[in-house]
Amino acid sequence: MIDQLQRAYNFNAGPSALPLDVLKKAQEELVDFRGTGMSVMELSHRSAAYEEVHNQAIALLKELLSIPDNYEVLFLQGGASLQFSMIPMNFLKPEQKAAYVMTGSWSEKAFAEAKLFGNPYHSASTKDGQYRQIPKFEELQYNTDDAYVHLTSNNTIYGTQWKDFPVIEGVPLIGDMSSDILSRPFDVSKFALIYAGAQKNLGPSGVTVAIIRKDLLEKANTNIPTMLKYSTHAKNNSLYNTPPTFGIYMLGEVLNWVKGLGGIHEITKRNEEKAKLIYDAIDLSNGFYNGHAEKDSRSLMNITFRLKDEELEKKFLAEAKKEGFIGVNGHRSVGGCRASTYNAVPYETCKAFSEFMVQFQQTNG
Ligand SMILES: *Cc1c(COP(=O)(O)O)cnc(C)c1O
Repeated sequence: MIDQLQRAYNFNAGPSALPLDVLKKAQEELVDFRGTGMSVMELSHRSAAYEEVHNQAIALLKELLSIPDNYEVLFLQGGASLQFSMIPMNFLKPEQKAAYVMTGSWSEKAFAEAKLFGNPYHSASTKDGQYRQIPKFEELQYNTDDAYVHLTSNNTIYGTQWKDFPVIEGVPLIGDMSSDILSRPFDVSKFALIYAGAQKNLGPSGVTVAIIRKDLLEKANTNIPTMLKYSTHAKNNSLYNTPPTFGIYMLGEVLNWVKGLGGIHEITKRNEEKAKLIYDAIDLSNGFYNGHAEKDSRSLMNITFRLKDEELEKKFLAEAKKEGFIGVNGHRSVGGCRASTYNAVPYETCKAFSEFMVQFQQTNG
């Protein structure tokens, strides 16, 4: 209980909250990891003790996301941002096209990197509507000779999220799932490649997860640096060079925590309940709070909203800060307010925030 009280109301967008149970276990094991007389950080990455941690994390991710056998799970570095470059480097040829679905700042960054290697184009874009929406499936354009179709499953900055994913026939579908992986079940087999920086839903920063269909590995370009080939990491079980061992250990413990709660369906239920608390405060405010995302595209992970003018917004953010709510300001590129309610953010944190919103409205409405 005391521990709970000392924990901040953490709505940071990334790096973000980690489960308290996981932090405590890591603390317990820090100086003597399971009888080895050293911390996980001090183990050789070639040791049996570390390999068990590594392989268990891979196995747990496969189990929790029901990843089929024809996929490899890779642990990479460089964040999701390096994936923006690695994808076209591996799979786009100079004369080839790739279709990018534009739903926010991260799609724009991914698109810009692809331009360095080939001819990306917009499959669809909701930019004209301030990225308030996810496009309809029938709006997506692509051709069967495109190298791939790329989408961003959850738009961390604008607060929109795909509710379901399209079936893309004849072209590999690639998904940036950095901010909603493991928050809900989805059909992995619709994708040829999924990637995610760990620091939102999976663990600490420094690890990037890639889930790649094996046949895609064979189609990759070969004239690229060894470390930037997916096949290098696939062939070596992500142990070609020294992996971020402590981050992978933490990721494994976060996965264990999710499994212990009851798995992905239980996590989804919790995420829906948490987000509802805050969306209700917006929807029942009679326009005092204005959600940025259209209702059909609302994210369960990043809840974005504005108040009627910047002055009131400033006051809201200052009072939120005073009450101990951390990370509620919107991304520096768009302003406004944002509550990131990732897997590890407790229900109580969201409840306290929704109550704060109601109370602020009562005194300032
Ligand atoms: C945070 C984020 C990124 C950037 O991740 P880094 O690991 O910092 O490179 C990319 N895409 C999405 C959707 C994100 O939320």
